[in-house]
Amino acid sequence: MSRLPSQAEIVIIGGGIIGCSVAYHLAKLGRKDVLLLERKKLTSGTTWHAAGLVRAMLYSGNLTKLARYSLELYTRLEKETGQATGLKQNGSISIATNAERWDELRRGASMAKAFRVEAEEISAKKAQEMWPLLNIEDVVGAIFFPRDGQTNPADTAMALAKGARMGGVKILEDCKVTGIITRDGRAAGVRTAEGDVTAEVVVNCAGMWAREVGLMAGVAVPLHAAEHFYVVTEPMDLPPNLPVMRNMDSCAYYKEDAGKLLIGAFEPQAKPWGMAGIPETFCFDELPEDFDHFQPILEGAIHRVPKLAETGIRKFFNGPESFSPDQRYLLGEAPELKNFFVAAGFNSIGIQSAGGAGMALAEWIVGGHPPFDLWDVDIRRMSPHQNRKTYLYDRVSEALGLLYAMHWPYRQFETARGIRLTPLYMRLKENGACFGEVAGWERANWFAPKGVEPKYDYSFKRQNWFSYCAGEVKATREKVGLFDQSTFAKFLVRGSDAERELQRICAADVAVAPGRAVYTQWLNARGGIEADLTVTRLAEEAYMVVTAAATAGRDLHWLKRNIRPDARVLVDDVTNSMAVLGVMGPESRALLQPLTDADLGNEAFPFGASREITIGNVQLRATRISYMGELGWELYVPSEFATGLFDTLMGRGGVKLCGMHAMDSLRIEKAYRHWGHDITDEDTPLEAGLGFAVAFDKNADFIGRDVLLKQKANGPLPKRLLQFALEDPEPLLYHNEPIYRDGELVGHTSSASYGHHLGRAIAMGYVRHEGGVTSDYVASGKWEIDVGLRRHAAQASLRPFYDPTSARMKV
Ligand SMILES: Cc1cc2nc3c(=O)[nH]c(=O)nc-3n(C[C@H](O)[C@H](O)[C@H](O)COP(=O)(O)OP(=O)(O)OC[C@H]3O[C@@H](n4cnc5c(N)ncnc54)[C@H](O)[C@@H]3O)c2cc1C
Repeated sequence: MSRLPSQAEIVIIGGGIIGCSVAYHLAKLGRKDVLLLERKKLTSGTTWHAAGLVRAMLYSGNLTKLARYSLELYTRLEKETGQATGLKQNGSISIATNAERWDELRRGASMAKAFRVEAEEISAKKAQEMWPLLNIEDVVGAIFFPRDGQTNPADTAMALAKGARMGGVKILEDCKVTGIITRDGRAAGVRTAEGDVTAEVVVNCAGMWAREVGLMAGVAVPLHAAEHFYVVTEPMDLPPNLPVMRNMDSCAYYKEDAGKLLIGAFEPQAKPWGMAGIPETFCFDELPEDFDHFQPILEGAIHRVPKLAETGIRKFFNGPESFSPDQRYLLGEAPELKNFFVAAGFNSIGIQSAGGAGMALAEWIVGGHPPFDLWDVDIRRMSPHQNRKTYLYDRVSEALGLLYAMHWPYRQFETARGIRLTPLYMRLKENGACFGEVAGWERANWFAPKGVEPKYDYSFKRQNWFSYCAGEVKATREKVGLFDQSTFAKFLVRGSDAERELQRICAADVAVAPGRAVYTQWLNARGGIEADLTVTRLAEEAYMVVTAAATAGRDLHWLKRNIRPDARVLVDDVTNSMAVLGVMGPESRALLQPLTDADLGNEAFPFGASREITIGNVQLRATRISYMGELGWELYVPSEFATGLFDTLMGRGGVKLCGMHAMDSLRIEKAYRHWGHDITDEDTPLEAGLGFAVAFDKNADFIGRDVLLKQKANGPLPKRLLQFALEDPEPLLYHNEPIYRDGELVGHTSSASYGHHLGRAIAMGYVRHEGGVTSDYVASGKWEIDVGLRRHAAQASLRPFYDPTSARMKV
């Protein structure tokens, strides 16, 4: 009889630590009919050779929640399964050897406080007491994270596998999946040399093979392997309770390993691997040594730990690990194929992430949605072009080193750039644009004046573009600014059921007359905000949905999934056929009116109106709406006419080109929320202060309505988004800074920027208070925000600091 069952409820592909963790957690959720298939042996891919560092904190609140969960799980696995994991929580020390790294570390420690992770500022001397071999002659300061530690990766994976088996999961080794069976747009099983297995759900946990496995199903899983190095010294009599030590300034970490020292590297220029494919025989393989490549790390290590000069290297290790284009892992249901889930691309933090990611994905599979906001790692953030091999090859050479590189605010990728351009790209470039990348698009972030190189000079303090951005904000607040907003995603929704379906999906009332734009959220059944966008009615049976570039794939996916199968509706992504020029500021009308026959007066063309008009020789759609909080129009123009329109507008004189950093400053002063930061699928419009955009009384039911009604009836909200402004104009906020009220930690900032018009740093952030975040509660507290472990007085407000009645947009 074949050992391979012909069917299973859930098939997991890959027996590394991630696949084992997903299997373990599915079993915990009561799923008995789970089959895990491993092409060779459990852990034989990347897992077996990892260094095993585990941290209690990651760069967002929810990812920290997952990291903390991993630690808790690894602590109890041995008792539960009888298989030791080797977890030791000796803590970790991060040292800084220059002032900017010290800024970064202190900001990181402050973020740890926001996420309620212990982090302690310690002196160089104290660091040396805890790590006696450390040379501290150039150490500026250090942070100690007492909960961090290290685990044995293979043992931890085996403990998860054992726990999964104990819960009923069937695990088969030496069984390679060779194809994915699909039916009616869903995953329906897998093919193997031993036969097919039909399944309701397929989970791709194939590590660095996950891209190839994805292609079997027509799913993009953008990742690429890179060589990843460490060395292990001869015995050095190190105590087993030595904390892990990180010296990111020289791209290295140090870990006690059975009395020896393991020194690992995150070098700035990594070596992509496996371009020609991963050898079929790969199983517990190592890659060839590259001593020249590792040499600079070793030199830095000898400086940091002088005893290394007299200690031999016992083992030089090089193994492949997979990296994604933005250095965050890929989790969730693939937008291309229903019931096909992915957990891959762990960017060298797969061991510490496995517990949490496995738990989250299992809950996602069983519950039909992520357990909380996981947008940071959601696979829907990827664009199809990011799955190209050459793109990945270039990007991965940079991605590996970024883990230890300076985490500058506004830091931009340097590789694989210039790929996705708006029609105005060349014009903007000629005018001094400094570009940043979002969803593969090149977007002008700021404009350098003539004679200045449009290049970032990064810092935690005011960066080189600060004053240019201030000028762009000033022009928009006082005169008129021109923004290239072409990267907006645009979807046409057409058909006789378009209104009916959109009324169900939108929380606002979109049953408006043609020629109106409506700001709305799309909610999930829990009342959480899945999308934040505008819906413009073009005609009786036609709408245009406009949303942010970063969420294009996710929002399109949500829209298509929520239109009922029997509905007569067609959805087309027309993003690339249309450019968008934002003309924003009190003088925008004066700029546009002489160029058009249409009456742009407030009565004839009120706020929210959207019309086809002609400007110069160009026929376009003008929509009176603004993300900047000023009088203005978004001009939707067929791509081929965009440059001509741009020249016409610029030819009028007095218009200032503005970038995305100015837009961010303008929108945050007006307290306009940013999806992914200020609003996510775990925040309701009421909590977000967006109740005004919800049409409870519209003549249609909408997704999430019942939950909002209940929340409304429950009285004061225990969680509410507030706007903050620092009183001191000097410090800068970036987000994830802790918020204190009367000395008590009550939340953290969700997004932040310098408000150039208001003249100080502005932020938003959720505050939690059991008794309700009411106006009295806000007004009666003494508010502070922690910036790099120093608290600064702040003002808090339920209403926007800038133009709370929106009078300026409606003149
Ligand atoms: C040198 C080095 C040091 C590291 N240090 C750390 C660290 O300190 N901390 C940390 O958190 N992380 C670390 N990592 C990263 C960590 O090892 C990985 O992120 C993690 O092991 C990834 O696990 P995985 O299950 O996704 O992949 P893998 O372990 O590679 O598992 C994938 C499995 O899928 C199987 N498979 C592939 N295709 C198929 C198919 N078609 N059919 C069936 N099975 C298939 C493979 O055989 C493989 O066993 C390190 C990595 C390296 C290389």
